[in-house]
Amino acid sequence: MFDHPSFDAHEGVHAFHDAASGLRCVIAIHSTALGPAAGGCRMWDYASGADMITDALRLSQGMSYKNAMAGLPHGGGKAVIWGDSHTGKSRELFLAFGRAVESLQGRYYTAEDVGIDVADIQIAGEETAYAAGLAEGEDASGDPSPVTARGVYLGILECARRAFGSADLNGRTVAVQGVGSVGGYLCQHLAKAGARLVIADVDQAALDEVAEATGARIVSPEAIYDVEADIFSPNALGAVINPDTLKRIRAKVVAGGANNQLVTPEMGEKLREAGILYAPDYVINGGGIINVAAEISGQYATQWVDGKLGVLIDTLGNVLDEALSANVPTNTVADRIARERIAAAS
Ligand code: NAD
Repeated sequence: MFDHPSFDAHEGVHAFHDAASGLRCVIAIHSTALGPAAGGCRMWDYASGADMITDALRLSQGMSYKNAMAGLPHGGGKAVIWGDSHTGKSRELFLAFGRAVESLQGRYYTAEDVGIDVADIQIAGEETAYAAGLAEGEDASGDPSPVTARGVYLGILECARRAFGSADLNGRTVAVQGVGSVGGYLCQHLAKAGARLVIADVDQAALDEVAEATGARIVSPEAIYDVEADIFSPNALGAVINPDTLKRIRAKVVAGGANNQLVTPEMGEKLREAGILYAPDYVINGGGIINVAAEISGQYATQWVDGKLGVLIDTLGNVLDEALSANVPTNTVADRIARERIAAAS
């Protein structure tokens, strides 16, 4: 673990196995400097246990940065469950997961991420007090993805303002990769603003639904990188900005909800050199965790969520402005601010 390339002085990396339910889970706590760690749970059919650990390490570090940039009293943590989210779910699995979270005694709060829905977290919540994004109960905040999508939309406007001189999306083309929870809601905002949408997903039903509601044009998952678009918005999985895809992306802005979009941090400089304005992923997609944090606080209020989201989008604007004026990558500026905030609390 201590030699692992993604190990970044994580405070704890916990592996759980439950023979009865088949649960295989890793919970990584990167930092609790700003408060108890908070971050979603991902269910994914990893190719190996090593891939699973890498994901947990990277995602939990990203949550430290995300929570710091969103001004939340939380450190970074993430849970990953090894399994197929379409075929591998059971009530017993999520009860066992809830017990795993509970055993950390509040050092980590869980919520939804890829492959995990509100019903799964609701079951886990029967065994732990440290689950948020619940469907029922006082202060329950439900699915965080509408707030994530709203933040991504507002962040896209900030990018457009700087890249095109105007936040007016009327007639602009946006290539949206992934039209699941976040991508689906995002397309509604973009369509309402008059943007022309080109969408790709591996889920035909999701594509049909969004195309019907927004008039979006559908392309194959591979073709989305080649679309003549003003904005490329990744809302599926990570590592989509890499040397191969960068050569193909025509857009002047990369801004979307997916976590870990850059295959390596150096891609930030490559994007800058290519004249592409990149909205650092963990800044633009912080809306969901703001919604979750409101529930954790025990006093959920939409006004508080909206206020925090507004400050987050201002922070994104400041990151973009500083990077543009200093000719440095946007992710370098965001990383520095996040690290400063965590260090100040340590
Ligand atoms: P989701 O599972 O609802 O949606 C993901 C979509 O991507 C699915 O429709 C899936 O079919 C599609 N997809 C998978 N592989 C693809 C491919 N190769 N090409 C195109 N599409 C593909 O998940 P989500 O909650 O919408 O999250 C999307 C991304 O946003 C993830 O990276 C997640 O970590 C991140 N994120 C989500 C939230 C949230 O509030 N849900 C918050 C912050 C970050």
